Amino acid sequence: MVIDLRSDTVTQPTPAMREAMFNAKLGDDVLGDDPTVNELEAKAAAMFNMEAALFCASGTMTNQLAIRTHCRPGDDVICDYLSHVYQYEGGGISVNALASVSLAHGERGKLTPDLIRDYIYSPADPHKPLSRLVVLENTINKGGGCFYTVPEIAAIRQVCDEQGLILHLDGARLFNALVETGEPTESYGQLFDSISICLSKGLGCPVGSLLLGKADFIKQARRYRKLMGGGWRQAGFLAAAGIYALDHHVDRLKIDHSRARRIGTMLEQLPEVEEILPIDTNIVIFKLQTNLLAIDYVAQLEAKGIRAVPFGKHLVRFVTHLDLTDEMIAELENRLSEPEF
Ligand SMILES: *Cc1c(COP(=O)(O)O)cnc(C)c1O
Repeated sequence: MVIDLRSDTVTQPTPAMREAMFNAKLGDDVLGDDPTVNELEAKAAAMFNMEAALFCASGTMTNQLAIRTHCRPGDDVICDYLSHVYQYEGGGISVNALASVSLAHGERGKLTPDLIRDYIYSPADPHKPLSRLVVLENTINKGGGCFYTVPEIAAIRQVCDEQGLILHLDGARLFNALVETGEPTESYGQLFDSISICLSKGLGCPVGSLLLGKADFIKQARRYRKLMGGGWRQAGFLAAAGIYALDHHVDRLKIDHSRARRIGTMLEQLPEVEEILPIDTNIVIFKLQTNLLAIDYVAQLEAKGIRAVPFGKHLVRFVTHLDLTDEMIAELENRLSEPEF
C-alpha cells in the first residue's frame, strides 16, 4: 500500500462523482450553452455572493486571468513572497499582465494592512509603477495551510478602498479555511473584487477551478480565456464533478484536518524532525535536522511506500486528502517509526 501525501491533487474521482460525470447534460461551452457548466458557474457565484463565475482548467489559469483582467502594463501587484501567484505560476504576472510585483514578507505568508501600506506607491511619482492589485492567498500553501479570518481580510479591504486598490483572492484551498473558521461563503463576496477557487485540490475533482467576480469582469476574463486557448467545448463532464464536489466534499475537509494534526503528533516522536509548523488545516510542513537533506529524506520515505515532496533544503510537506483511509494513517505511523533513519 502506497501512502501518497504529495498533494491533495492526487485524488481519483469517487464512484459517485464518476456517475455524476457520466450522466452530465452537455453542450458547447464556447458557445455558452453547456447546461452543466452554466449550472456550476451560477452555483459557485451564488455561494460566494458574486455576480458571475468562469469555469477554467486550473487555478493558475483563474489567478492569471484575474491578474491579466485587473491590471494594465506597468501596473504593480502586491503579494507575499511565498504566494503561489509569484512562486508557482511560471512568472505569469510579468508575461500575461506585463505587470511588476512588490513582494511583502509576512508571517507564514500572511499580509497585514501595515505590510501592504509599505508597498503602495504614490501615483504622483512618475518613477514608480502604479500600485493596482493586492493578492491574498487563503489558505496559504507555503505558510503550512494557515488562514485568514474575515475580520483580518476586512481590515485589508479597508486599505484597498482607501487607496483605490483592487483585491483578488487566490482561494485554491478556501474551503479548508472556511470549515475551520465556520465563516459563511457568502461573507466573501463583498470582501474581494475577484476570487479563484480550486475544485481539484481538497474537493477531489479531476480538473477545475472557478473565477468569481462582477459580471463585466467575468465577461472580460472569458475573452482572455479564449485568447489563451482555454475555451472548451463539452466541459460539462468536468463541471458535473465540480457540482458533485461542492455538494458532498466540503464538510468532510474536517477529516483531512484532524488527520493532519494526528500526523503532527507522529512527527513529534521522530528524532530526525527538528520543527513542525503549526498545523491549521490539511498541510503539514516540517523541518529536518540540518544534517539531513529533504530530497534524501523524501527518497527514504519513498522506499517505505510514503510519498511526499521536498519543500525547501530541509523542509518536507505532507498533505492529507480524500483518498487517505484510517488504515493508511495507522500504517503511516508504523512506517515512520521504523528505526533505519
Ligand atoms: C494549487 C494551487 C493553485 C492552482 O494550481 P493549479 O495546479 O494550476 O490548479 C493556486 N494557488 C494555490 C495556493 C495552490 O495551492
